[in-house]
Amino acid sequence: MSKYDVAVIGSGPGGYVAAIRCAQLGMKTAIIEKYSTLGGTCLNVGCIPSKALLDSSHHYDDAVKHFEEHGIDIPGEIKVNLKQMIARKQSVVDTTTGGVDFLMKKNKIDVYEGLGSFIDATHIKIEGKDATEIEATNTIIATGSKPSNLPFITIDKERIITSTEALKLKEVPKHLIVIGGGVIGLELGQVYRRLGAEVSVVEYMDRIIPTMDAALSKELNKVFKKAKFKMNMSHKVKSVERVGDEVIVKADNKKGEEVEFKGDYCLVSVGRRPYTDGLNCEAAGVKLNDRGQVEVDGHLKTSASNIYAIGDVIKGAMLAHKAEEEGVFVAETLAGQKPHIDYNLIPGVVYTWPEVAAVGKTEEELKEAGIEYKSGQFPMRALGRSRASMDTDGFVKILADKTTDEVLGVHMIGARCADLIAEAVTAMEFRASAEDISRMSHAHPTFAEAIKEAALAATDDRALHV
Ligand code: FAD
Ligand code: NAD
Repeated sequence: MSKYDVAVIGSGPGGYVAAIRCAQLGMKTAIIEKYSTLGGTCLNVGCIPSKALLDSSHHYDDAVKHFEEHGIDIPGEIKVNLKQMIARKQSVVDTTTGGVDFLMKKNKIDVYEGLGSFIDATHIKIEGKDATEIEATNTIIATGSKPSNLPFITIDKERIITSTEALKLKEVPKHLIVIGGGVIGLELGQVYRRLGAEVSVVEYMDRIIPTMDAALSKELNKVFKKAKFKMNMSHKVKSVERVGDEVIVKADNKKGEEVEFKGDYCLVSVGRRPYTDGLNCEAAGVKLNDRGQVEVDGHLKTSASNIYAIGDVIKGAMLAHKAEEEGVFVAETLAGQKPHIDYNLIPGVVYTWPEVAAVGKTEEELKEAGIEYKSGQFPMRALGRSRASMDTDGFVKILADKTTDEVLGVHMIGARCADLIAEAVTAMEFRASAEDISRMSHAHPTFAEAIKEAALAATDDRALHV
């Protein structure tokens, strides 16, 4: 039986990064993945393919709506070739997952394809292509998550679908009903809206992306409405039925009246659930909490002293970069180091256009905690860079402590905010004040100038260009 210092179960961004860091630190490492490709949800059916489709559909949208104004004439009709779009997406996925294969080889990590399950706390059975049993001194559970569902919905994977199927549709829906106005619903909804589908978002809460700062929800909602999305807030979905090629969704609106939506596809995007099916946690003494998450302590250690868990399968934001940080954290803990993760500084991004990005506390959270703060906001439309590229929607908002001026939260919506948020994370990691940011030179013309201007607005209400 092969023996390892560390076995990692699951090869998503949490698992494969944990495996690399363990190997870098000199541990003999194995990784077990039930699918034939590495990379988990993120690389195969999550972050990467969704961004590939967002990029392709953005190009199409630009070509249709803006090329003429830019002075680019395209003879003939601009058409969507969905088959090619999906094929390109798949080639991006294949290259990316192939990259993880390379990294495993480079770091001399043994890869087992098959379902891993605990025999006991130090032995793992692998069922599938590489069926065997291995012994591991320590194990890292990185088994991720799967789409959640509502109890009354049957996902038929044809017309009533999750994000996984939405990434490989064979036709552009005529009318896509999206249940859940969170990250997945809005990103994939925007892909198909751009390609010509009518899109109705049906959201239970009174706003989209309800966990983010309310100002971001409001601005994104405005942009989506401008793009003729049908936005239905405060709607409680009560039934989803397929009749032939039609899907009928019934919901109660705010007034308690029944509303019916008829479409040809329905995307169910109401969150994801931690995935531990088949892992046989009990055999290893690993406890789950009442939400089905693997329970961990502050060191990400489970109730079994040699078993750790990371990523979507434990509490916290379901984000690839959070899973990665935790993978590194556990590897370094096992190597006797004292790593640290500041969960407050894990940024959240929605890759719609405009992009939405945030780090730190929202205004709602600061109010609830009774923390006195000041707020500075700067609109993207006031930037020369935004006008040059016709990306004038959005703003940057900086929240700073009223007394100390320390930046407590940065919330932005606009072009390239997914990348811009890194500046805010860096600043907050070094506990910058709003004035610190306002005194840093920002290249002109860039979208980043909005951060400096918002910092000026927060410091002293002295933004320069509004
Ligand atoms: P996963 O990536 O889910 O990987 C877990 C792996 O474990 C899987 O490959 C699974 O097959 C394997 N596994 C499970 N059980 C076993 C077992 N018993 N034996 C062997 N293998 C097993 N996050 C972002 O940060 N940015 C984004 O842009 C983004 N976009 C997304 C878009 C979509 C459509 C979706 C669905 C998710 C997106 N996410 C995004 C979320 C991101 O994908 C997850 O947070 C991330 O993948 C979690 O990583 P993980 O390593 O915890 O688990
Ligand atoms: P989510 O939690 O972002 O959004 C789910 C939405 O569904 C929420 O707005 C919620 O209020 C709504 N909802 C819940 N029950 C409902 C009901 N009965 N009727 C109508 N609406 C209902 O979840 P998601 O969009 O499914 O994404 C799952 C996870 O994947 C998220 O946690 C997210 O972190 C991750 N993800 C991240 C990215 C990114 O980082 N860009 C992209 C996609 C997914």
